[in-house]
Amino acid sequence: MEVSLYKNIDDKIMCTACLRYCRLSDGQTGYCGVRTNVNGHLNLSVYNMPYSFNIDPIEKKPVLHMYPGADILSFGTTGCNFGCLYCQNYDMSQRRKADGVYYTPEDVVNLAMEYNTDGIAYTYNEPTIFMEYARDIGLIARRHGLINIFVTNGYETDESMKMASEFLDAMTVDFKGNGNKYFYNKYISVPSAEGIFNTIKNAVNYGIHTEITDLIIPDIGDSLDDARKMLEKIMNIAGPYIPVSFLRYHPDYKLNIPETPLNTLIAHHDLAVSMGFKYVYLGNVHEVNYENTYCPVCHSLLISRRGFYSRVTGLDSNGRCKNCGYITGIKLLRNKKLIKG
Ligand code: SF4
Repeated sequence: MEVSLYKNIDDKIMCTACLRYCRLSDGQTGYCGVRTNVNGHLNLSVYNMPYSFNIDPIEKKPVLHMYPGADILSFGTTGCNFGCLYCQNYDMSQRRKADGVYYTPEDVVNLAMEYNTDGIAYTYNEPTIFMEYARDIGLIARRHGLINIFVTNGYETDESMKMASEFLDAMTVDFKGNGNKYFYNKYISVPSAEGIFNTIKNAVNYGIHTEITDLIIPDIGDSLDDARKMLEKIMNIAGPYIPVSFLRYHPDYKLNIPETPLNTLIAHHDLAVSMGFKYVYLGNVHEVNYENTYCPVCHSLLISRRGFYSRVTGLDSNGRCKNCGYITGIKLLRNKKLIKG
């Protein structure tokens, strides 16, 4: 399928979907393996071609401050613009060619409705590489009252984010190794994490609900100095109320380092709290005190979580703390139906 996020430059085309800005000669495919110059036009080989579907709780994305308890149809395609050596979905992401089953945008939305889900998550691999397919699905999904969520590495261009703003309700932006440049070079094959901050700025400006995750990898991606620098930039862009989750890494694919110790994660949690972040979580661990949401004013329990399951206990139907009246802005499901706006 011919797609639109590209520019013609001399006898090449430049893909503008992600910050790699691959310049492609006729017949050449970009780093992600799914966008190809065909006679001066850009072809997206995974358009209509998802590789994997699942129905997940929204907490698994993780999106913690929007519609807790919502059921989300999650899907991804093959290909990726990152080369993470520890990728848990490497069978999809590192398969640098189209593969999967034929699903038009209407088919994907119909599947989401057939299973009575509340929305669609574009996840498992990097959705930016199939932005035009996601947009076409997302616009139909919106017309049917479904929400759209990106789980992204944040390597979007301004052009991509403009397209995302047409249909996206929420983004989880995933840092790795505290944004350390050397880590991004060596373990992800990406020059730097700097562009990710611009993506967060774009998301905030477009009014897309944004949450941050950061995968902490022992020894090679767990520097608290790096975490402080990363968090300072996030604070300057998005303020202290943006949810931040530090995720435990597990060995996979080509990286055999043991999983992240709990103490390392707690040190990151405590740093973020000391810097003024109001909603800080740990992920991929089952430690209740680090999964729950507490009121930033009176510290009452608002949402209790265990793994991917949540129970709203301390919020009224408008997302206000029942104890002190603080307006959290957290949107809630009512009678298992989305109430938007
Ligand atoms: S989306 Fe793919 S082709 Fe486009 S710039 Fe990124 S890696 Fe290159």
